[in-house]
Amino acid sequence: MKKICIIGGGFAGLTAAIRFSGSGIDFEGTLIDKKETSDFLPTLPDCLGRGISPGCLTYKIGAICGKTGFKFVNDEVISVDPERKEIIARAGRFNYDYLIIASGSDTNFYGNENIKKYAYKLDGATDAEKIISKLKEVKYQAYVVGGGGYTGIEVATNLRVFLNRLKRPGRIIIVERAPAILGPLPEWMKSYVSANLKRLDIDILTASQIEKIEDKNVFVSGGKVFENAFVVWAAGVKTADFIQNLKAKKNPQGRIEVDENLRLDEHCYVAGDAAYFKDKNIYLRMAVQFSIVEGGLAARNIINSIKGRDVVKYKPLDMGYIIPMANNMSCGTLLGVNVRGVLATMLHFMMCAYRSWSLKNGFCILKRFIKKGG
Ligand SMILES: Cc1cc2nc3c(=O)[nH]c(=O)nc-3n(C[C@H](O)[C@H](O)[C@H](O)COP(=O)(O)OP(=O)(O)OC[C@H]3O[C@@H](n4cnc5c(N)ncnc54)[C@H](O)[C@@H]3O)c2cc1C
Repeated sequence: MKKICIIGGGFAGLTAAIRFSGSGIDFEGTLIDKKETSDFLPTLPDCLGRGISPGCLTYKIGAICGKTGFKFVNDEVISVDPERKEIIARAGRFNYDYLIIASGSDTNFYGNENIKKYAYKLDGATDAEKIISKLKEVKYQAYVVGGGGYTGIEVATNLRVFLNRLKRPGRIIIVERAPAILGPLPEWMKSYVSANLKRLDIDILTASQIEKIEDKNVFVSGGKVFENAFVVWAAGVKTADFIQNLKAKKNPQGRIEVDENLRLDEHCYVAGDAAYFKDKNIYLRMAVQFSIVEGGLAARNIINSIKGRDVVKYKPLDMGYIIPMANNMSCGTLLGVNVRGVLATMLHFMMCAYRSWSLKNGFCILKRFIKKGG
């Protein structure tokens, strides 16, 4: 009987677990996650703008494990030793014959303890709950979003819709370190997003960074100070600490460079945000679509190895991406076709509903989209 361990019960990890069930192999499966629920991250900002209940975005990992033959262990992995094929978690140790690392990514505060202490992050359903209750409780003068990437923009537009609903005026500012928002994305998208941010009265400060937060005052480079300000930090992500300490080739975010079969070594696979995979000279971005396929493929390759068959190469298909904006003015590309406005918003919500782990959650997401004016 082979011992199979999965670290992480997100899109990649759970897809892998499902793939093992019914594979016909004799295995003892363990899935370890530091959280009890798998949170549907792409709709977290919509908890603000659309009023989606954060509870609609969570699904009990143990419930899926129960259906797949995996034992669920609610614990945080602190190290992995690929040579000894051993995982060390806070409360126990696990040996494996095959491992899938699918631990995703977390907010990166780049070592700034001050920002980590005072800013809000958006990594899970409980983070969304914390932001909503704080904003309902306290009136701020300014709302500062750190980071002008997809998530920062999505958060800023959702904040505006949320504040409008509460009938609270307030300045919203996106602070971006780079000279422009949305990094390498096409110019048409940057112009479209910038025009929409203007429409929503959201300011953009480029080539700037949040330096510190003190007594609700936010200090930004160039001597700017925003008083009585609420800060959401969406300026980057990094992989889990145990990966940072793993001996492997990694990118600056700590994503592990994998081979064409998604392997770190013969017994250790990496899938989802934790994996750094190069396709036609371009590294794949972090996205749900890749995480799901990679989780399934990592499991398939382990099953093949156990059955004495060849492992399969990963050939990703990029379906495209959407930058969701809360006033239904989203934009993106789908299979090479540019989309914008309500259609783009609708595609985002349809993807989210379809990818949800339960019909109930999917229905809950779609219902809020329709109700809030899709
Ligand atoms: C606000 C936001 C909006 C997003 N919007 C989109 C979008 O619109 N479209 C899109 O495609 N993608 C979007 N993404 C990115 C997408 O959510 C990720 O690419 C995807 O979740 C990655 O899946 P994963 O399985 O690799 O990791 P995750 O889904 O993050 O799951 C990782 C799991 O590992 C667990 N874990 C982590 N460290 C440890 C540890 N040390 N020990 C045990 N368990 C651990 C975590 O608790 C978690 O359950 C968004 C992300 C965020 C945060």
